[in-house]
Amino acid sequence: MTGEQFLLLPGPTPLPDRVARAMSQPMINHRGPEFKQILLACTEGIKKVYRTKQNVIIFPASGTGALEAAVVNFISPGDKVLSVSIGVFGERFAQIAGEFGAQVEKISFEWGTPADPQMVKDKIKADVNKEIKAVLVTQNETSTGVFNDIKAIREAIGDHPALLMVDAVSGLAAVDLCMDEWKLDVVVSGSQKAFMIPPGLSFLAFNDRALKVHEKCSNPRYYWDAGNALKYLEKGQNPYTPAITLYYALHEALQMMMEEGLDNILQRHMDYRDMVRAAVRAMNLQPLAVDAAASPALTSVIAPEEIGANKIRKYLQDEFNIVLAGGQQKLDNVIFRIGHLGYIRELDLLSVLAALEIALLKFGHHLELGAGVNQAQQFLMKKHS
Ligand SMILES: *Cc1c(COP(=O)(O)O)cnc(C)c1O
Repeated sequence: MTGEQFLLLPGPTPLPDRVARAMSQPMINHRGPEFKQILLACTEGIKKVYRTKQNVIIFPASGTGALEAAVVNFISPGDKVLSVSIGVFGERFAQIAGEFGAQVEKISFEWGTPADPQMVKDKIKADVNKEIKAVLVTQNETSTGVFNDIKAIREAIGDHPALLMVDAVSGLAAVDLCMDEWKLDVVVSGSQKAFMIPPGLSFLAFNDRALKVHEKCSNPRYYWDAGNALKYLEKGQNPYTPAITLYYALHEALQMMMEEGLDNILQRHMDYRDMVRAAVRAMNLQPLAVDAAASPALTSVIAPEEIGANKIRKYLQDEFNIVLAGGQQKLDNVIFRIGHLGYIRELDLLSVLAALEIALLKFGHHLELGAGVNQAQQFLMKKHS
């Protein structure tokens, strides 16, 4: 099918026209005054989204790049690290730490559920010699559609000196996070999720406690050196050529985000979650994530076993130009994932739910046509009353 796609992935997300237009501006000197202004404005804007006054570095990289930056800047080879994993991205963070020489101890939770802060507390308490140097955790696990209670995990660590390092790549600006108030040490995010811009930038935020660890950290690094990047930032520059076009996009998107207001953005994402969950349940389907930890950024839906998730996704793509994400690894063909983060509007979701009902009926799933859409409409009627 030709024409514009309905892209409902948990990244990359659709681009607002304003962002697309901003990217058509001409190149400028990355060491000149115009870029300096953009870099400083973007850095300040990102700090607002993180709710932090600490350090933020913007890397020309996908989210995984900034996860690697977090590891090479704050974890030394041989350091003991506690990984708290609830899905694919928790595993990835642990794997990166392992590749760079950390001794990784893992606690894993069933996919579809959040981490239990009490188990973190027990591990931390048992570490009487304070050997654990860092705790790695995912804020919003994109592979399952579950978010962790980061504040509770911070509290579980208490005054143990381990750094808390958070992968907030798909969560930031969709799921609340207060870096300073919650005393988070290192927080990573990425451009193509809730920031409404293309892939290619990632953000590394870290506090002064982490900066002290960085200064003694023995992992080799050059491209990812956060200390060097901070020095250049003081001059309004990057150590190397930045992705200027993506900064134009980021600058415009941050402007849009400030116009909407962070609290309104977070509420909008929670509304999408509630609307989608009510609708899929009315279609006689179950979401994968437990209610208490269901992500505002995306919803994973368990496909009817006799149909399989991938057949539904293919039909939606072929017939309606709707692109949903599949399940990853052991969830392949078990779930499909509806991304509702970033630049997604209510009516986009209503369209997707309507088409999903058609797909389900076509493959023989038992539901009443319109039942899910009806739930979503009722939700919107209340919201707009
Ligand atoms: C998308 C994502 C990543 C990886 O980001 P890339 O940009 O694909 O490298 C890491 N963690 C989480 C939670 C994500 O959602």
